[in-house]
Amino acid sequence: MPCSPYREAVSARLDGEPLGMPARALEDHLGVCSACAAWADRAALVTRRARLAAAPPVPDLTADVLAALPRELPGAAPAARARLVGTALRFALLVVGVAQAGIAWPVLVTGVGAMSAPAHMAHETGAWNLAVAAALLAVAARPGLAAGALTALGSLAVLLVPVTLADLGAGHVHLDRAVAHLLLVAGALLVAVVAWRGSRRRLSPAVPGRRLAA
Ligand SMILES: [Zn+2]
Repeated sequence: MPCSPYREAVSARLDGEPLGMPARALEDHLGVCSACAAWADRAALVTRRARLAAAPPVPDLTADVLAALPRELPGAAPAARARLVGTALRFALLVVGVAQAGIAWPVLVTGVGAMSAPAHMAHETGAWNLAVAAALLAVAARPGLAAGALTALGSLAVLLVPVTLADLGAGHVHLDRAVAHLLLVAGALLVAVVAWRGSRRRLSPAVPGRRLAA
């Protein structure tokens, strides 16, 4: 029998695979064939060296990788900022709405308006002003209502400002009464900003974190 099957068996034994022959037959051949015995020794040596050789050094990139990571997920900071601005706007609307209601409610209940207005005129302006307060508070509670509320609030503010300025110039209105209208103007501006932010969010493509900001 030629030597090659025995050398294949030696190689298989080193690799932990089936020898393809009885182990006793291999041992017997290695005992009588010095060439194969020497070949088996060399093969065992090469195999051992290959297994014991140190792994090639790999640079430790942990610090570099950690340093390269973004501090926050993309979009997280803008989303958090947008939430904060939205909350501040709603709180401001709440304050303006409560103040507006505080002015309107007594006039509506008592029928005694400023500047000695007839009772029904006082009731009517009281109802108007309370409706404005209700609209502001509704937008504070549900910012999605801003665009709808803006139609009435915006046009009321746009109409009221020039006529109030004209009345002030002509002495038809006291300054404190005119200043009270600033609440309406501030509320209308806040509602306009909320409506603008809502429309911008609907138009912009989805970005990471956008869902959180909604
Ligand atoms: Zn041999």
